[in-house]
Amino acid sequence: MDLDTAQSPLPLPGAAEAAWAACANGVLLVDAGIDSFPILDANPAMCRLSGRTRAALVGASALGLGGAQPGDLLGAALRTAAAGGAPQPFLVQPGGGAPCSRWTVSLAPQGDAAARLLCIAEDVTDLREQQALLAHLSTHDALTGLANRALFNERLQAAMAHAHTHAGGVAVLCLALDGFNLVNESLGYVAGDQLLISVAMRIQACMRAQDTLSRHGGNEFVLVLADVADSAEVQGVCEHIVRVIGAPFPVIGQSLHAGCSIGIARYPQDAGDGVTLLRYADMALSHARGLGGNQLQFFAPEMNQRTAERAQMEAALRIALIEGQLQLQYQPLADLQQGAICALEALVRWQHPLMGLIPAGRFIPLAEAAGLTTALGYWSLHRAVEDMLAWRAAGLPPVRVAINISPKQFRDAALPQAVAAALAQSGIPPVQLSLEITEAALMQDPQASDAILAQLKALGVGLTLDDFGTGYSSLNHLKRFPLDLVKIDCGLTGNIVTGADDAALVKTIISMAHHLGIEVAAEGVETEAQCDFLRRNMCDQIQGYFFGKPCDREQVASMLAARHAVPPHLLRIQKQARTLLLVDDEQNIVSALKRLLRRDGYQILTAHSGQEGLDVLAANAVDVIVSDQRMPGMIGADFLRAAKTLYPDTIRIMLSGYTELQSVTDAVNEGAIFKFLTKPWDDEQLRTHIAEAFRLKEIADDNERLNLELRTANHELAAANRRMEDVLRQKQQQITRDEISLNVARELLQFVPLAVIGLDDEGMVAFVNDAAERMFRQNGAILGNEADIVLPELFPDGLAPSGSHQVDIDGRCYQVVAHPMGANSQSRGSLITISTCEDLP
Ligand code: C2E
Ligand code: MG
Ligand code: MG
Repeated sequence: MDLDTAQSPLPLPGAAEAAWAACANGVLLVDAGIDSFPILDANPAMCRLSGRTRAALVGASALGLGGAQPGDLLGAALRTAAAGGAPQPFLVQPGGGAPCSRWTVSLAPQGDAAARLLCIAEDVTDLREQQALLAHLSTHDALTGLANRALFNERLQAAMAHAHTHAGGVAVLCLALDGFNLVNESLGYVAGDQLLISVAMRIQACMRAQDTLSRHGGNEFVLVLADVADSAEVQGVCEHIVRVIGAPFPVIGQSLHAGCSIGIARYPQDAGDGVTLLRYADMALSHARGLGGNQLQFFAPEMNQRTAERAQMEAALRIALIEGQLQLQYQPLADLQQGAICALEALVRWQHPLMGLIPAGRFIPLAEAAGLTTALGYWSLHRAVEDMLAWRAAGLPPVRVAINISPKQFRDAALPQAVAAALAQSGIPPVQLSLEITEAALMQDPQASDAILAQLKALGVGLTLDDFGTGYSSLNHLKRFPLDLVKIDCGLTGNIVTGADDAALVKTIISMAHHLGIEVAAEGVETEAQCDFLRRNMCDQIQGYFFGKPCDREQVASMLAARHAVPPHLLRIQKQARTLLLVDDEQNIVSALKRLLRRDGYQILTAHSGQEGLDVLAANAVDVIVSDQRMPGMIGADFLRAAKTLYPDTIRIMLSGYTELQSVTDAVNEGAIFKFLTKPWDDEQLRTHIAEAFRLKEIADDNERLNLELRTANHELAAANRRMEDVLRQKQQQITRDEISLNVARELLQFVPLAVIGLDDEGMVAFVNDAAERMFRQNGAILGNEADIVLPELFPDGLAPSGSHQVDIDGRCYQVVAHPMGANSQSRGSLITISTCEDLP
């Protein structure tokens, strides 16, 4: 008999037999009356699970089926069940070539007596694999396969326990990639993930078997270095890691430079528990990043104190916002063409109950870290608007106010609406408000910045680039943004009259910005000399202690009322008095020259040494210098040389009785001396030479003035062009939007079942939808023709349809309704709908 095809020995009714055959679990029928537990029958699923035929199973002992289980679980369970017991389900690993590696087995008596047992096996191989995978994921990071926070904690505890018993040490390293967000934002998350995987592999290669590398999310890696002898060993490992991470990474076809910062805390020196160690390593990491990145920092107790102070200040700042401890001050900006106040920058101050008035520079970074700048920014906006209304109510001339927008607030989707609402509610014209945004904020995500700036620009407010010269400083990158003003940072302005590099940089920024049609303001102008430099180099506006310090609302009111302005001699274009500087160590010579030259109407300044002469030059605009050669400290040739370098526009004359010196000849040859005159002098000749020097200076000044006027005109032209481009861009956007809505409306009308025809204001058919075309198919071409000719049905008395009337078309009654256009849009003409009279209610 072929057992594989034979019927089951069980007296099974039809349905039960079908269930026996179709059951997904393997089932054996076992004879429990015989010690070897022979198998009486096996269902098809059991054959599949065991990898044996029914013929091989039937008659064989069930005891062998449990595989090489220690303690033969199946045998024990069969014996318990045969003795009338109820064994619990249990797991077996069948082996013996079975295709699945794990079953759970349950036993049940077949019928009332325990003489026959049903042995039911369920395949749990997949389930076990999934459980194993879950167990792995609960301790490992899914992206890099590194240990996760849980496994890190376990390993750290073990390393600390080992160090404790063996008097060794452990180091916890927090590592973050510098500028990782930029990779994510500029190249996308796929590139970011690839970079993280490569970084993980490189760090892993620097570590020993007993160390653990874990990832705690983002670009934050944490390492446990077990068994470390001293800090030098830790430092060696860290330096190695910094070096390998510093080498370029090939990511999505590009070569990326990552760089990393590491913070280190040691057991047992820094802390005795894992949580504190990790916190300290993280603090040290923040410190390393604060120092500019690509650094390693060991934890030091002061960091803890600083962090605690920061946390206290943050808490106090939250209270300050709620309790109204913030104030707004305003710093004026002067226009160098007219001299008057052209804007006020709103600067927040914190009136701390114990620490007094704290300037923004000291708490804004804290507020930024605590996520408070957005709330603070809106507070500033509303307070500034209130103050502007107060100045207006007091009858003061209108003035533009600039509000600083933090990078976080700039990304806040509610910003354009909040600005629009503040303007609408106050009635303040948009041109009187400008927003200051930093280059870093714009460059975080240039595409997103485009969209935000476009929305703000559409409101009509001014857009200023703040602190230019501190970040990327790339005007080339910035030309895409619709900026009106660039503010040169205090750091650059401070050095323009002392540092040649900064002076050159500022000149370049001014000229490039003007080329792009953007105006320029210089921040932090503290001296007249700086203001004069900026004036001569076409800077448009200045801001700084020289023109005005930040002050409160009432002080602003007085300043506006008094029409506070830059002195006329510092305006960009002006006529100066003739100023002469006489330098001689002999007082009687200075006095004699003064007496002689006073009659020529010069403003005469004097000095008795080269150094004193330079001081006078630093504080005054001088046209002509007359200097002696032989003076103690600095000889005349050197003084005139220095004057030439610092004030090349001056005309320099030497008046000396001492002619043989090589240095004088050199100075003449270098162009430091315009004329060499000898003592004793002839009065008339000297007066003539000096008058000639002034004439020369004035010709040069006139040339410069013309040049400035030309450049001003060019720059105004460029600004006008830029404004025009903005207007055109906005117009184009509006046209595109209109076109889109028109197309949507057309498409909608095209497919409505109602016949619709559009006529222009001269009665020409401008639009016919599908339904209308079908209705008037026999009329031929309709579109573009005169409606009364091609659609006579609609003009029953020769009159253009207006209002609603009924017409007969092909023997059917239709309702024709004319809707005049233009009530809610700029459209003209009319829209005609034609519906059958049956459709009408
Ligand atoms: P900022 O926008 O560049 O503001 C100019 C800073 O330079 C102000 O510092 C101002 O007091 C200071 N300053 C003005 N003239 C001179 C000068 O002649 N010499 C020097 N050395 N400094 C001068 P402050 O008020 O401490 O503000 C610092 C920064 O805090 C501001 O830089 C701005 O970025 C931010 N800030 C100020 N108010 C707000 C605000 O309401 N919201 C936001 N988000 N940021 C603000
Ligand atoms: Mg600012
Ligand atoms: Mg600034």
